Amino acid sequence: MKFIETNDLSDIRGRMLNGSDIFEFRCHPGVSCFNLCCRNLNFFLNPYDVIRLKQNLEISAGEFIEKYTDIIVRPGNYFPDVLLRMADNAEKTCPFLTEGGCRVYPDRPQTCRAFPVEHGLYYDAAKNQTSLVHFFRPPDFCQGRHENTARTIASWEADQESAFYNQMTVRWAEVARLFQADPFEGEGPNGQKGKMAFMAVYNMDAFRDFVLNSSFLKRYKVKSQLRMKIKSDDVAVLKLGMAWIRMFLFGVKVSEITLKR
Ligand code: SF4
Ligand code: SF4
Repeated sequence: MKFIETNDLSDIRGRMLNGSDIFEFRCHPGVSCFNLCCRNLNFFLNPYDVIRLKQNLEISAGEFIEKYTDIIVRPGNYFPDVLLRMADNAEKTCPFLTEGGCRVYPDRPQTCRAFPVEHGLYYDAAKNQTSLVHFFRPPDFCQGRHENTARTIASWEADQESAFYNQMTVRWAEVARLFQADPFEGEGPNGQKGKMAFMAVYNMDAFRDFVLNSSFLKRYKVKSQLRMKIKSDDVAVLKLGMAWIRMFLFGVKVSEITLKR
């Protein structure tokens, strides 16, 4: 998911797709470029991607972050990006690419599901409105666009089972966009609050421990439906983490959590 802040979408590379627009695409093991797209990637992972991948690999979120990612802070942003670290080989392949294909395929990240479509969150500053935009932009080597299979955004989402990924990514993108302003009062994202915020959304196992084993639940009232799921549901922990960031760092009123009086 990318943030696009422009009043002129025509300056963005790729073909913009609206609701009923058709694009031709099919990917299958018979294409000459099979798996060529799974290498040398600048691959940004969203929090929900981490949930699915760490569950697939049967490791904790902390272990996943340590073993498979690089964390970077881009200039002008106050929240780190989490990049999937490519394998240390000549082709810099995705760490999950094997001779037999993708070894995490049922839980592959949203970017892989959407490819070669890219989704973006378009923020219209004049109207203060956010909307989803879609661009079809296969790289030159991608032969799938010559396969004569008609798709729409909706049919592609159904084919790739990506509806929930998209929902969670939009939800996260709306939180991440807030970090274009500095909520850390000079402390930076590596200070105490920054580390807490990172844990709240990317290390859901550690955040769950923190919520259940600190004074968190004495200080905050968590909506009962959400609270009941925290022990066993990573998505519930992530939703709580995102709501907590909005409230704690940005003073936004949220429905999921309130400060106890
Ligand atoms: S490059 Fe395109 S057609 Fe080839 S494997 Fe990747 S997505 Fe499929
Ligand atoms: S996660 Fe799977 S589909 Fe995505 S780049 Fe890696 S090997 Fe390819």
